[in-house]
Amino acid sequence: MFNLILFGPPGSGKGTQSEKLMARYGLKHLSTGDLLRHEIANQTILGLEAKSLMDQGQLVPDEVVIGMISTALDNNPLANGFLFDGFPRTKAQSVALDKLLEDRNEAINVVLALDVTEQELVKRLLNRGLTSNRSDDVNEDVIRARIAEYHKKTSAVAEHYQQFGKVVLVPGEGTVEEIFESLSGEIDRRKAA
Ligand code: ADP
Repeated sequence: MFNLILFGPPGSGKGTQSEKLMARYGLKHLSTGDLLRHEIANQTILGLEAKSLMDQGQLVPDEVVIGMISTALDNNPLANGFLFDGFPRTKAQSVALDKLLEDRNEAINVVLALDVTEQELVKRLLNRGLTSNRSDDVNEDVIRARIAEYHKKTSAVAEHYQQFGKVVLVPGEGTVEEIFESLSGEIDRRKAA
């Protein structure tokens, strides 16, 4: 198994690159944002509760997303490996993920962190808001709130995995193909090791 966290602020290109990495490496894509939007679309209680937080650019509670990921791991016993996108987003989520994997005799192999300037992030997200139907991409205040949440809580995830030497910073600006090749290079090097 090869388990990878694709890491970076909102708008850094995790979704785009996940699609391509999934196709090349046969990994199972687990995006907590997608799982939450699925709950919202199905109007579940969980979805209704998550929506108001998401629309303010705030994180949903740790236990909610940890529960979703735990279920997803159980539902995919035959996966080649997992690509975690948008999770973990807090230190507590990182610790919980490590434990969930350890219980399955697995671990995170690498954290690939996409590096993009804040100015570029806001530009991309506002642009995505024109077509994405995502209510959290339309308003610049909500976008800034999501980036602030990232700095306040999510940067701790990188610190957590840095202590195990698992974090690699990858330039997140350039063409989609260029970024994909940089990410693939890092994965290939580790798979060969
Ligand atoms: P983006 O990275 O572009 O902000 P996501 O689709 O990953 O988009 O997440 C959208 C929203 O869903 C977040 O702003 C947050 O409210 C919620 N969310 C997604 N993943 C998590 C998580 N791991 N922990 C807490 N909240 C989450």
